[in-house]
Amino acid sequence: MTRPDAQPVASHYIDGGYVEDTAGAPIPVIHPATGETIATVHAATSETIDRALASAARAQTEWAARDGADRGRILRRAAEIMRARNRELSVLETLDTGKPLQETLVADAASGADALEYFGGLAADVTGTAIQFGGDWAYTIRRALGVCVGLGAWNYPTQIACWKAAPALATGNAMVFKPSESTPLCALKVAEILTEAGLPAGLFNVVQGAGEVGAALTTDPRVAKVSLTGSVPVGRRVAAAAAGNMKHVTMELGGKSPILIFDDADLDDAVSAAINGNFYSSGQVCSNGTRVFVQDGIAERFLARLKSRLSNVIPGDPLDEATNFGPMTTRAQMDVVLRHLDRARAEGATVATGGNRMARDGFWMEPTVLTDLTDDMACVREEIFGPVMSVLTFAEEAEGIARANATEFGLAAGVFTRDLARAHRVARAMQAGTVWINQYNLTPAGMPFGGSKASGIGRENARMAMDHFTEAQTIYVSMGRVEAAF
Ligand code: NDP
Repeated sequence: MTRPDAQPVASHYIDGGYVEDTAGAPIPVIHPATGETIATVHAATSETIDRALASAARAQTEWAARDGADRGRILRRAAEIMRARNRELSVLETLDTGKPLQETLVADAASGADALEYFGGLAADVTGTAIQFGGDWAYTIRRALGVCVGLGAWNYPTQIACWKAAPALATGNAMVFKPSESTPLCALKVAEILTEAGLPAGLFNVVQGAGEVGAALTTDPRVAKVSLTGSVPVGRRVAAAAAGNMKHVTMELGGKSPILIFDDADLDDAVSAAINGNFYSSGQVCSNGTRVFVQDGIAERFLARLKSRLSNVIPGDPLDEATNFGPMTTRAQMDVVLRHLDRARAEGATVATGGNRMARDGFWMEPTVLTDLTDDMACVREEIFGPVMSVLTFAEEAEGIARANATEFGLAAGVFTRDLARAHRVARAMQAGTVWINQYNLTPAGMPFGGSKASGIGRENARMAMDHFTEAQTIYVSMGRVEAAF
């Protein structure tokens, strides 16, 4: 692997150390802000995949048998190391993804550390139930699943690795993690830090590669669970492959989430949320509120305020902390966004702001707002995964709810109103895994996060994630004699 300073020293991390395997196809790591190649990693060969799975399987049994408090202590130590190295990790995240350092300093390693700390705290509290049947009784214990596979998207490589590893490890599993081939570096650092914190070798392995490596991991009989963060089409493929030998799955998939902004909303808060929910990370966030439904009475003021706020966008070197808007992570994704915009124009949408590639090296898109839309246009129905906000208007609450829910997706939703009863009524009517009231896209580790409908299965974070990385074993205890018919 060729590398910039202070970056991971080899392509894979297996059995407690870096491993190189140049027999695998080279994968260039491209800094999205300039298009320069900053490192090259190699895809895992079948030998490397086998080595990772074998070492995970070897390490897992002893790990599961340990006192949960011991496991938790290691995770909390890892959280401390991540926080101490936040700047170094944030720079790497910025190089890998192109997201501005201004964001990565507060959102990535910080969120990863929160998950490690949170699940580190819960590791000593993996409990079952006791059920009385007269004199007899049964009790349940939560057992680790075994070797789990994590497959990551390219938008939050550190956070995704930690959100999957922390609950998996806290509950006694081992994990083999495959980052996106577009952002392979950060998960290696997570592995390095876990080792430094005292995690025994083999419990968190990282292998590189594209979909084929993910597919090989998903179908391996040694694997008990697959947790994917990715798109709906890949989610369908991975869940179908995992069903082959009845593996557990968690699917954190895409969305086209609505934000409903009522006439009585705090306009500045609503505009801020729409900006955060569409342009943070250049729009490459699964739960983004990309369909912004504004009630008729404030629609004009909302658009005017939004446009004026967008004059504060500062694109530039993402490593400069003054920069508040970065490039798309890959050229391919920039091209996807450009194609969506061509189609939106052809369908009659108005580009209220932006709409073009920026004249810079790298993969830069202007923050874009589309208006004059109908619900059936492709730009309103399909996930774009870029800095493109669709602004629609609505008249009545019931109409807003119906239109917000008229999608195959169900990841998230937002409601902006000062009317307390309406806020809760609308939130409960949303067909979405997460609904924010007068806020958007905040995801503390203690809060379950995940999708409804095509946006996924299972939840990450919170206690619920502990359930998704364990299964119940029921033990029946007889206090009497065994009766038989003959
Ligand atoms: P993809 O679905 O393309 O890829 C996700 C991961 O799966 C990658 O590591 C990919 O490898 C791997 N993969 C691809 N094909 C297979 C296969 N057949 N078997 C096993 N693994 C496979 O997602 P993106 O990386 O493009 O990320 C963007 C998507 O992720 C968006 O739809 C977004 O909404 C969603 N997302 C969801 C989140 C959530 O929590 N709900 C959070 C963040 C993003 P590779 O790409 O290297 O080929």
